[in-house]
Amino acid sequence: MITLSGVTKSFGDRPILRGVDFAIAAGEVACLIGPSGSGKSTILRTINGLERHDGGTITVNGLLLSDRTLPQIRRQLSMVFQRFNLFPHRTVLENVMEGPVQVLREPVAEVRERALALLDRVGMAERAAAYPSQLSGGQQQRVGIARALAMRPQAILLDEPTSALDPERVGEVLSVIRALASEGMTMVVVTHEIAFAREVADRALFIDGGVIVEDGPARQVLTAPTMERTRQFLDRVL
Ligand code: ADP
Ligand code: MG
Repeated sequence: MITLSGVTKSFGDRPILRGVDFAIAAGEVACLIGPSGSGKSTILRTINGLERHDGGTITVNGLLLSDRTLPQIRRQLSMVFQRFNLFPHRTVLENVMEGPVQVLREPVAEVRERALALLDRVGMAERAAAYPSQLSGGQQQRVGIARALAMRPQAILLDEPTSALDPERVGEVLSVIRALASEGMTMVVVTHEIAFAREVADRALFIDGGVIVEDGPARQVLTAPTMERTRQFLDRVL
């Protein structure tokens, strides 16, 4: 579903991704872990073309990422951000409807129905008329996930979806992600929630210094890593 092969990316003369290789199958949940500054966000951003990679290849659903295929690839991937990125002057419902109506040009009545169903799924149907500023961080992030789902993506990329939340709000967002995982949604999740990743992810990728240092079954990588660098990282965050 998502394949990276020898992906490189520099900012100025600083190499950030130094040849990233991995492949995520449809229905798989992969967590991407690694120290701050190791290139996790850059990987997600290059996959959906928010950043352009310098070398190597990225393939999504059989499409090679290029300027020509980018619009098509974007349509297949939804992104969930650490800081939610909801439109502040639109209601919860309008936030969820925005993409399908404005980008996909789908009929408003149909989108509204789907948006309300999605809000129900993330436990936010009662707040459909609220504005983002009236919600807690956990509630905003659940709306962010509903908004991502409204585009009917093939896969969702989540960049530290719980790290801007108060500790008591983390669980409600993780529950939503857990439910999506059990429904077979393909996801790449950047997270520092190691216990959650161990439970929900199929795969764990550990990145350090712009390369994937370790890649394997989540339970194995996050419990008994093969590489010393992975072990040291886990000792620091656990
Ligand atoms: P992570 O998400 O793992 O913390 P990032 O992918 O955000 O790391 O960043 C990796 C490195 O690239 C960091 O050193 C960061 O400062 C740098 N970087 C990220 N985005 C930019 C940018 N737009 N311009 C310059 N440097 C950047
Ligand atoms: Mg990041």
